[in-house]
Formats: sequence, structure tokens, C-alpha cells
Amino acid sequence: MIKQSALKPDNAAFRETVPAGEYFLKVVKAGQTVRILDLEGNQAADTLFYNAHNPTERYSAVDTIREQGNVYLTAGSRLMSSENNVMLEITADTCGRHDTLGGACAAESNTTRYALEKKCMHACRDSWLVAVTEHEELGMTKRDITHNINFFMNVPVTADGGLTFADGISDAGKYVELEAKMDVLVMISNCPQLNNPCNGWNPTPIEVLVWS
Ligand SMILES: [Zn+2]
Repeated sequence: MIKQSALKPDNAAFRETVPAGEYFLKVVKAGQTVRILDLEGNQAADTLFYNAHNPTERYSAVDTIREQGNVYLTAGSRLMSSENNVMLEITADTCGRHDTLGGACAAESNTTRYALEKKCMHACRDSWLVAVTEHEELGMTKRDITHNINFFMNVPVTADGGLTFADGISDAGKYVELEAKMDVLVMISNCPQLNNPCNGWNPTPIEVLVWS
């Protein structure tokens, strides 16, 4: 569902551009709104959310899908935690549909899906591992890297239930905006994937904005 935001970027309390292949990590407080902006179009933002005070409570794809009765995320979607609490709600969306089924790219999946020599290519899971390694204060390890949201990524479900990684439906300047319902740690991997069309074969930067 396409829904524009009334928030003005000039009024944002925080703005940061995240290059392709880099991670983004920030606590967004309850009541604040975070926007993820696809600057150049067709770029997947692989995102994990945690309760900022207890990272064992985290975004749960299965609880979110069950509660809303739909596999796609868009405006109105409430993102549920592993404790079945609402973590965030999508309050604006100019892309129209986001994936939470396809998972994130990893050295292992690149190897099995594409070719053995893809093993050393940088992947989203590596970016998250770098994030938790560089931020020991979080007390998180690779065991905490679980199922994610692929904002802007197009993973249509076929009539017989199949999954396909299709060319993107996002475009330059499209965004998704979420209002936090609890203090959440936002961890994004701006996807470096080059083996499928999720980034239009050309990973590009995203921007993250937060309004208080
Ligand atoms: Zn990726």
C-alpha cells in the first residue's frame, strides 16, 4: 500500500548515508520515527530489530506474518517481536511491498546458490557479524543474527507457493518509514549482493533518517 509521509527531511534529528556493503546500527526510541530511503533505487536494506534493553527479544518474521495474515510488509504492518510485542509499525511506504521471507545473503548461501568461488564475496551476514564484533557492549554474537526484513527487495510468492528473487519494484527516492513502539536497536546491512537482481546488479547507498 502506497502511503506518503508528512515528515520533512529538513526537520529530521538524525541523518546518515550508508554506503553499499556497510552496516548501520542505532537505537531508535519509542515514539521516534525512522525512515530508510532508497537513494538510487533497486537497493535491498537487510534489517534486524532488537529490544534495545534486551536483545534476546527481537523481530520475528513468523509472528509478524501470522498476526497480519500476509507475507508482505507495507504501510500498516506491525512488526512483532519473538515475545509477540509490537516493536514498530510501518507508517509510510512509497515502495509498496517489502520481503521478510527471503532471508539475507551469506557466504554459505552464495556458495550453494551460485558457485564455489562466490564464497569470499562480501555478504549481509558478514556485515552484521562485523557490527556485533565492533560493538562488544551489545553483548551479541552470531547466535543473535536471526530472520530479517529485506526492505525494498522483491521476492514474489508464486501461485504454487514458490519464492523467486525478482527485479526490484523500488526506485530512486522511495522510502519506508516506521514508528518505534518500544526502544529498538536497528541493525541494517546495506546489501552488497551481486549474484541476483535484488540490488539491480549494482549496490548503491541508502540514507537513514530519524525524527524525534
Ligand atoms: Zn545481502
